[in-house]
Amino acid sequence: MTTSTRKRVLVAGGAGFLGSHLCDRLLSEGHRVLAIDDLSTGRRENLEHLRLHARFAFREHDVTRPLPAGLDVDGIFNLACPASPPHYQREPVQTTLTCVLGAHHLLELARQCGARLLQTSTSEVYGDPAVHPQVEDYRGNVSPTGPRACYDEGKRCAETLCFAYLRQHQTPVRVVRIFNTYGPRMQPDDGRVVSNFIVQALRGEDLTVYGNGEQTRSFCYVDDLIEGLRRMMDADAEGPVNLGNPQEHTVAELAERVLALTGSRSRIVRRPLPADDPKRRKPDIGQARRLLGWQPSVSLEDGLRETIAWFRERLGLPPERSIFLPAVAVAVAAEAATATATATEGPCESR
Ligand code: UDP
Repeated sequence: MTTSTRKRVLVAGGAGFLGSHLCDRLLSEGHRVLAIDDLSTGRRENLEHLRLHARFAFREHDVTRPLPAGLDVDGIFNLACPASPPHYQREPVQTTLTCVLGAHHLLELARQCGARLLQTSTSEVYGDPAVHPQVEDYRGNVSPTGPRACYDEGKRCAETLCFAYLRQHQTPVRVVRIFNTYGPRMQPDDGRVVSNFIVQALRGEDLTVYGNGEQTRSFCYVDDLIEGLRRMMDADAEGPVNLGNPQEHTVAELAERVLALTGSRSRIVRRPLPADDPKRRKPDIGQARRLLGWQPSVSLEDGLRETIAWFRERLGLPPERSIFLPAVAVAVAAEAATATATATEGPCESR
């Protein structure tokens, strides 16, 4: 699937945070897009702006069930799975099946159509890693029975299925391992650290740091990640390839940054560390650099500013009711206005 040719693309998980941004990107390149999503964590509102788009269609569908009959596509992106720990742990059976059966149904479609499939795997395949930073040939440190296993092992098995289809049926597959990603369209109740801290800071609530806050993550802005997905779909190698931002931060540091950027007077409080919470995480992106010529370009500060501006609107916080310090409030209000203007001028035509 190259950007110069117009294709029919299926985005499984298309109503989610990443899926909806990917739909925007594919439509802006001129492709026809069918998004499917069971709306368990995805939201219709993420696709509302595409409702009347001539080259876009949405169908509510759970990928653990057989796919609708008669689908014929050139490319498939599989992003169908809840990705936030509290969400994927809520129904662990369904999470496991979504990873495994979902990948199976989509790979079978790819085989039948001769389509290329890009599987979004995860840094969770490395578990609580004993190798740092994480390189693709590190095999990971995952509990097969712990609370995160439904997602971690499900995603590992989905990778296995991709390479089994490649070996047995020569199905063209691409596998990326996505590290922590943030940006507009994360849900306020997503439960992940960036959205939690921003929402808490904007509402004047305590910021909940789990454990001592010394655990690390590396945060990639959504636009950078989508660029990586697009390049990988067109790449000559199957992967797996890590996609993420190699800048590593402690969770405590992130809390301080969010407080500074929102101007919030919220307090930072400690909460128990969830079971099996990885202590360190940082991608080695050497492969992505070599194979895709890709590396993130948005700094944590710029990405957080964009995300904070989006959440302010999403939470319905007008500048006058702001808890911001005056100088910061003016700057952020101006950014929110710019973000709105950009969104309404978006790349997708409508009928
Ligand atoms: N975390 C936190 N406070 C929160 C949410 C998460 O301290 O309100 C921590 C969590 O324990 C983990 C890190 O932030 O160490 C990243 O968590 P997240 O759920 O965003 O994603 P993960 O990388 O664990 O999948």
